[in-house]
Amino acid sequence: MSEISSVPAAGQCDAIIEGLKRHYLFAAMGDDALDRIVANGRLVRLEDGQVLFRKGDPGDFFYCIIEGRVHIGYEDDGKVHVLNDLAAGSVFGETAVLDRQPRSADASANGPVLLFAVPRDDFRQVLIAECQLEDRLVQLLCERMRWVSDQVERKNRVERELRKLTLAVEHSPAVVIIMDAEGKAEYVNPKFTAVTGWSLDDVAGQVPAILRIDATSPDLHTELWATLHSGQEWRGDLQSCRKDGGTYWESCSISPVFDNGVISNFVAVMEDITERKRLQDELHRLATTDFLTGVANRRHFMERAQAEIGRATRFGKALSIIMMDVDHFKKVNDVHGHAAGDATLVALSAAAKAMMRDADVFGRLGGEEFAVILPETDLPAAVLVAERMREHLSQVEIPLDEGVLKVTVSLGIAQLGPQEKSIDPAIGRADAGLYRAKGLGRNRVEVVEG
Ligand code: GH3
Ligand code: MG
Ligand code: MG
Repeated sequence: MSEISSVPAAGQCDAIIEGLKRHYLFAAMGDDALDRIVANGRLVRLEDGQVLFRKGDPGDFFYCIIEGRVHIGYEDDGKVHVLNDLAAGSVFGETAVLDRQPRSADASANGPVLLFAVPRDDFRQVLIAECQLEDRLVQLLCERMRWVSDQVERKNRVERELRKLTLAVEHSPAVVIIMDAEGKAEYVNPKFTAVTGWSLDDVAGQVPAILRIDATSPDLHTELWATLHSGQEWRGDLQSCRKDGGTYWESCSISPVFDNGVISNFVAVMEDITERKRLQDELHRLATTDFLTGVANRRHFMERAQAEIGRATRFGKALSIIMMDVDHFKKVNDVHGHAAGDATLVALSAAAKAMMRDADVFGRLGGEEFAVILPETDLPAAVLVAERMREHLSQVEIPLDEGVLKVTVSLGIAQLGPQEKSIDPAIGRADAGLYRAKGLGRNRVEVVEG
């Protein structure tokens, strides 16, 4: 080796970088990084494909790379002494003291030589040093290397865990969405695609539809995002559209992820509950409606009636009730058969329901007896409604095999009294009106005042 020069001449820099690039240690580095090395590393010399590169001050260790091989040496009095030449792979990646023996006559003249390789903090590069050190320093270095080695092991462990977690998320039966701090999707797992029909390409960079504020439930979404931005987890059920236009329900748990105290991401884990919701809706329907006519059953009618009374009392509004019974219905069954009787009940209830306002509550209390709650309706107005109903239902044609059947109904009406907190007294009065209508020849409306 020859004498060390100082800073490389301007024209040499590119050639030096070319030399560095030929070594795998530097091969992956960008030009910026190589420029920095050349600028900071106190480059030493270049000779026909040889790069000599010194770390630190004169007298410190150096390594040089000559056509892909690493040479370790030291510098003394302006001279470079190469102690050994090692194939790069035989050194890199080791994390222990490799050798404390003199490696050459020159080295032995200066005492034992320590050679070690340390994976650096970014775990990709390796720093090689060879120099003469006191035992105390060797100890410190060894500790440092052990620490670095532990870090490497920890990092590997974390990476293994991460791989496992990634696998779990990829194969999860739950929908997983990872969003950035603005709620825009960065990752969706295959289950998301299976449930919604949308791939990551479809949704990347957008707030997923299920988490977007929409017209149907703006309050829910406002609350959702307010909770998340306050740093808390949000749980709840959300409904959204699939790519094919169908709807689906998800039970969601969404959490903010923090990086240095600032929200960096949101992670949503969702379970498809579309089928469960459908069953719930179906159960609710079965529990609240009459199986034959589909109108409210007795129990549901009574619940809704009680709710309407509460509202009428609170707001000081009138409320009326109509009781209705089919005239001579037994004869329908006896003459035309039970199926014709059923068809009559279905046709009458459909026709009656079609006449009502959305706010009215219509129910089948049992047999061929029906009732109507008319909110915000006083007695004279209720009489008009009942008369219209009586007239309309008498025109309903029930198709039978042997021809068309028509029936009539009788109706009794009452109004909720000012002090009444229950529907029962008003039902009693409306029932009395119905009984009177039957007694007076049927197909008529009778009112009983409170
Ligand atoms: P009225 O004019 O006095 O009301 O005479 P009615 O024949 O209608 O007398 P009532 O109310 O006693 O008769 C009710 C009949 O309705 C008795 C019962 O067999 C029949 N019924 C009750 N529920 C059903 C049903 O779901 N389907 C059919 N087809 N008939 C039913
Ligand atoms: Mg009857
Ligand atoms: Mg009856």
